[in-house]
Amino acid sequence: MRYLSTRGATEPMGFTEAVATGLAPDGGLLLPEKLPDLSEHFDRWARLTYPELCEAFFSHFATDLPADVLRDRVRRSYASFDHPKVAPLTRLDAHTYALELFHGPTLAFKDFALQLLGNLYEEQIRRTGKPINVLGATSGDTGSAAIHGLLGKEGVNIFILYPRNGVAPLQERQMACTGADNVHPIAVDGTFDDCQAIVKDLFGDLELKQRFNLSAINSINLARVMAQCVYYLAAWFQLPEQARQRVEFVVPTGNFGNILAGWMMQKMGLSIERFCVATNQNDILYRLFETGRYEVDTVQPSHAPSMDIQVASNFERFLYFHENGDTDRVKEIMQNFKAHGRYTFESFQRDTFRASRATDADIERIIADVYQRYGYIVDPHTATSFADLDPEMTSVILSTAHPAKFPDTLQQAIGTEPTAPALEALKARELHRNEMPASADTIRTFIEQTVRL
Ligand SMILES: *Cc1c(COP(=O)(O)O)cnc(C)c1O
Repeated sequence: MRYLSTRGATEPMGFTEAVATGLAPDGGLLLPEKLPDLSEHFDRWARLTYPELCEAFFSHFATDLPADVLRDRVRRSYASFDHPKVAPLTRLDAHTYALELFHGPTLAFKDFALQLLGNLYEEQIRRTGKPINVLGATSGDTGSAAIHGLLGKEGVNIFILYPRNGVAPLQERQMACTGADNVHPIAVDGTFDDCQAIVKDLFGDLELKQRFNLSAINSINLARVMAQCVYYLAAWFQLPEQARQRVEFVVPTGNFGNILAGWMMQKMGLSIERFCVATNQNDILYRLFETGRYEVDTVQPSHAPSMDIQVASNFERFLYFHENGDTDRVKEIMQNFKAHGRYTFESFQRDTFRASRATDADIERIIADVYQRYGYIVDPHTATSFADLDPEMTSVILSTAHPAKFPDTLQQAIGTEPTAPALEALKARELHRNEMPASADTIRTFIEQTVRL
């Protein structure tokens, strides 16, 4: 299998190179050259464990990795999950199911992709002998999931910038209490935008980038989307036969990576009838799927911070399929959108999509409601999924985070704070963070002094 850029000006490449590359040199995102119909394998795959299923799926995509290497990388990645099913499906009632994606080390669904990505990076370092320094900015979940994907790995340093007063206390502890000496959390005296600007600035310094082999951990890496396809299969295989007639996956959405993976899985033969794009009050995607108008607004902080996004970085991949692989059209639309902050589609096909949105007040009400109705506690991101369920269909809700990560909102909504052993353990650990001003120079010097070349 080869991988192509959504902008058409990058030579096709193999899986390993695509994973190492991240963003395509022409500014586009990488995608498989075709989405094969895998449905002939489903009967057999239904009997596999999660790591076996993941390996079977990736054997169609990571075609340049030796089979034993792929097996080893996948096994390691899911060994760190604390549930035997890895992604268990919980029945709430006869037509409502929750796919729990929070059993990984940081208790959010990003672990599925970042554990695997970390293990693929490790393999790459082993093969090339070249150390990597990972640099990124986070407002929470991505940073901690990336750190836990790379924790203690030989040949990797990881520098994660976050706004000093802008991440939840437990999220900070997940980043700054690891005790691993290759992890360097940097609490920046500034906003998330300041952090991102510094990262962009440092990546723009090509001499620095080359000397330190700087690598990004952004949400656009091909391996992230592909790894997320697997749990849609796992969910399907756990659904009772009689519930599979008309299935809608409901996905709390920010950067459109999670839901895109499901949609690709549908294209590869899984008979999902529809997807619901669940947004919070930052509802650019809700507006797009309702009206065909894609228009940025300012980001408003919400109870579901990992969905506080206006421009969804994975949207370009969807656009590529939407425009039938016409890379010139994709480039034109993206440039147009970048210049004007909006784009109106004349014919926007939303055949298998619909959208819903939830304000902070809705989120609190839903958490209380779901708790009362099912005795089940959802986190604020997952709560957005319940805003507008279709009673005519089987709803599979993607539970993207463990509720214990958001004690304040839970306290407000139901008057108790759920706990998780992994988080409790963190509270006793010492916090090691590097406090720095919002200055690219200071952080450049810190990287230079930390990494021994
Ligand atoms: C990242 C994240 C999301 C949004 O997922 P996207 O792939 O960016 O759409 C939703 N919920 C949680 C808990 C997250 O961490």
